[in-house]
Amino acid sequence: MDDPIIGIMSPKAKEWFARAVVGMIWADGRIDQAEIDYLKSLLGFLKDKDLIHSVLGMIKQNKIPPLESIQLEQAQALAILKHLTSISIVDEDLDKSEVAFLKNIARLLNLPPEIPEKFISLGRKRLGGNRFHSNLLVGDDSLDVVCFGFSERECLFFSNRLVNPMARLTLRVYKDQKNRSESGLHAPFVAEAQWCRAVKSGIAKYVVKAVFKKQITSEEGARLIFSMPEEVETRKTFEPQYNSLLGYYLQCRVCGTNDIPFWQLRSRCLHTKNNIFGIPHYDRAVGGKDFCDYNLFQISVCPNCLFASNMMEYFQRQDQEIGSPKFDQKLFQSKWQPTLHKRKKLVAADDNWLYSLERTPEQAIVSYQLAMDTHQQLGLISDDLEQSNHQRKVVSFMLTQAEMLMDQGDKANARKLVQNAKTILEKAFPTLEKEAAIRAAHLIILINIYFKEYDNIGEYLNFLQKFDKLHGVASASKEAKILYHAMETAKDAWQSKDEYAFDKISSFHLKD
Ligand SMILES: [Zn+2]
Repeated sequence: MDDPIIGIMSPKAKEWFARAVVGMIWADGRIDQAEIDYLKSLLGFLKDKDLIHSVLGMIKQNKIPPLESIQLEQAQALAILKHLTSISIVDEDLDKSEVAFLKNIARLLNLPPEIPEKFISLGRKRLGGNRFHSNLLVGDDSLDVVCFGFSERECLFFSNRLVNPMARLTLRVYKDQKNRSESGLHAPFVAEAQWCRAVKSGIAKYVVKAVFKKQITSEEGARLIFSMPEEVETRKTFEPQYNSLLGYYLQCRVCGTNDIPFWQLRSRCLHTKNNIFGIPHYDRAVGGKDFCDYNLFQISVCPNCLFASNMMEYFQRQDQEIGSPKFDQKLFQSKWQPTLHKRKKLVAADDNWLYSLERTPEQAIVSYQLAMDTHQQLGLISDDLEQSNHQRKVVSFMLTQAEMLMDQGDKANARKLVQNAKTILEKAFPTLEKEAAIRAAHLIILINIYFKEYDNIGEYLNFLQKFDKLHGVASASKEAKILYHAMETAKDAWQSKDEYAFDKISSFHLKD
């Protein structure tokens, strides 16, 4: 429990609260293992192990623990009453003995009698309506559930199936509650199951508490809590914590998840030093702007289907009209969904970092892996030209991973990735055309020089030198620029090949 008011209560008050919780659970005269588990999670705020044991002991003794009158600050007394009311309605029932218990508690807390009346009537209201038929995806199963008790951070739902705590959930509320089959579903809430209790309600066998991965917006929350008609106010942009960045909210085109943050680097804010393979390394801020290592969080990831890219145009920007997507969404989804379990294994159970720009290098490396999977799959459903663009992205993500691993001191794995990138490029090279072929030849040359594998460098240098003659490059075109840059840097690297060799430099950067 992370209620700050409970957190700062005195040990004596906490113990009192713990006894009251036991009493509340016993008030309806039954208790089961799920309730004990629930109690344990609730008692997390008790630091004193002996006290936890004694509270659990009380549960087993099958009686309501004695409670004496206690004088607390009103905010604390109200918080206790609020939590107890929530417990009382978890099984979708507020029976006479529970009402009597709440009134007694209010008396012991020295609260005026109209206060428990108000809580009880609110509790009844929460039970009375505001239930939402919804679809739940958990693992590979899709089931119908009934959600209720929404707040901005969590909701409860009835399920006929046991849901394991910690399970990752995707909840979608039906748009039309009366005509569900045809109505379609609202955008999903991604959540984690906190607990699952067997209940004696007529609606379903279990009640599950779902904690949202990301607080839902107050508009969505108000709509669900008070059954207001949908009036979608989409979030568009946000202000990142560093003034060198711009923040946009994106929607996943594959699964419809909203409010995925994307951080765009403002121009001329960070100084970069490209490594020998052309991968930028951010080393300092410029013009008084805030420094941040953009490589750590440039990949935006959909928390639901784990679609990932550093290019906004592969998502739907929420500050723009829906434009024509860059890929066939349906076709992509049909290939993407079956492999979700593999991607989930990459992301830790606590995936809050997906919403954050404070990512560890390990988390950033996972984000690049997801982006590689994404662009690989995008390539497989694209035409040749697009396919080579995606392949280039995959190689550049791989080389960025390598740069980060090198930075971490993991030279062996960093070099392995660079070798892998070369293998991909060499395999693709014969089928590549124009710009893609120039870039690939260029990178193969640089990687070979780094590894001191000089045998076939001549072949690729030749390719670059003869390219203009064979293919006719229009002067001042983009292609001409890329070709010129590739030839110059490849020649430079070849002439000073000793400085580029892996046994001469300890990073992927030339010595100053
Ligand atoms: Zn998605």
